[in-house]
Amino acid sequence: MFDSLQDRLGSILNGLTGRGALSDKDVSAALREVRRALLEADVSLEVVRGFTDRVREKAVGAEILKSIKPGQMVVKIVHDELIEMLGKDQVALDLNAPAPVVVMMVGLQGSGKTTTTGKIAKRLTEKQRKKVLLASLDTRRPAAQEQLKVLGEQTGVATLPIIAGQGPVEIAGRAEQAARLGGYDVVILDTAGRTHIDEPLMVEMAEIKARAKPHEILLVADSLTGQDAVNLARSFDERVGITGIVLTRVDGDGRGGAALSMRAVTGKPIKLIGVGEKMDALEDFHPSRIADRILGMGDIVSLVEKAAETIDAEKAAAMAKKLQAGKFDLNDLADQIRQMQKMGGMGGMMGLMPGMGKMKNQMAAAGLDDTMLKRQLAIISSMTAKERTNPDLLKHSRKKRIAAGSGTSAADINKLLKMHRQMADMMKAMGKGKGGMMGKMMGG
Ligand code: GDP
Ligand code: MG
Repeated sequence: MFDSLQDRLGSILNGLTGRGALSDKDVSAALREVRRALLEADVSLEVVRGFTDRVREKAVGAEILKSIKPGQMVVKIVHDELIEMLGKDQVALDLNAPAPVVVMMVGLQGSGKTTTTGKIAKRLTEKQRKKVLLASLDTRRPAAQEQLKVLGEQTGVATLPIIAGQGPVEIAGRAEQAARLGGYDVVILDTAGRTHIDEPLMVEMAEIKARAKPHEILLVADSLTGQDAVNLARSFDERVGITGIVLTRVDGDGRGGAALSMRAVTGKPIKLIGVGEKMDALEDFHPSRIADRILGMGDIVSLVEKAAETIDAEKAAAMAKKLQAGKFDLNDLADQIRQMQKMGGMGGMMGLMPGMGKMKNQMAAAGLDDTMLKRQLAIISSMTAKERTNPDLLKHSRKKRIAAGSGTSAADINKLLKMHRQMADMMKAMGKGKGGMMGKMMGG
């Protein structure tokens, strides 16, 4: 239901034939569908109202671009506004403070706080080489502290020794001290929740905050929270003061509504999403992907629009020429990677291309996700200009130097080179024939 908005709008949009500017009537008809879709997605009523008002303001009277239909224009405005509301840029965890940086996890019981604590710890340890200490402040549920200890053992992250009889504030103090003495970079405090928001919970969170002085306070919320999301986010933000949101169970029937609601009422960024029970099922939040999901966009038109927005025309022309000549070096690959990042990463771009599912899976199998993209850029920028234009130069000793320079391994470099070869072949094939998809994308 959630991803059929595009279809629903389609019928209305096809009825819109006028040229020039969008009329009030056109916009109202489209917005009725937008409103219904958002409510079905469990976006809270007040947020839906604010959203449709803003879209109406922008849409009525808007010039319709020559190349697209009026309906597509409305979709584009809705899409842009969704991204605007979800927060344009992806915001990372902020660990920019003197060590040990304290991260406090808050939220209702069962929202995924403990699981997310483990996931974040694993990510910081493995990808950012941080020394992390975990502490469970959940003295309410009998096995809660034990649960975190087990997760710590699983992921190889230290946990604060459990001392029976201590209260949450006392444990927070002990964690901070242990982290300081032990030379830890980050200490993550996993707090207790309740089944619903109540006064004792808010008081407890405020006390822990006063004692631990966390740099980040992350509200962990189930993406299926629905209409309660607004109240939940507002309460925690007003009473405790959150710095970011983690949305869990996005792997389930996540319709994205909670994301929009919580972001809208708090203005705080959604920093991460949980996409499974396993410790590596944690991803960065990409607003454009959720917006695309809401609109169910899967057509080449929007891809071309996006491409036109992000691809520098001159570069594109040069690239098209190179492709046709069958040349594609590592500089070009780096450009491609940057373009992919601008277009919302692999998932975002591939999601927009019909029939690209298979390729997306292949790329995922090759480990080509968004962190990988960053790593690959690091590798390419550690190369000399000569190496970039002539990858055949890259023998063992050069790889060793580049690996050291980019903080990667020879295996990473081999993967990149393999991918480059595969892409060069693919681009060559696509570059032939002007009608090809790449030809269109590159404006050639
Ligand atoms: P807490 O009470 O807030 O600490 O919640 P827990 O971390 O104990 O999680 C409650 C349940 O939700 C556990 O069974 C987790 O495995 C599960 N869970 C947490 N995050 C996710 C997620 O992103 N996806 C899925 N499918 N399950 C999750
Ligand atoms: Mg817990």
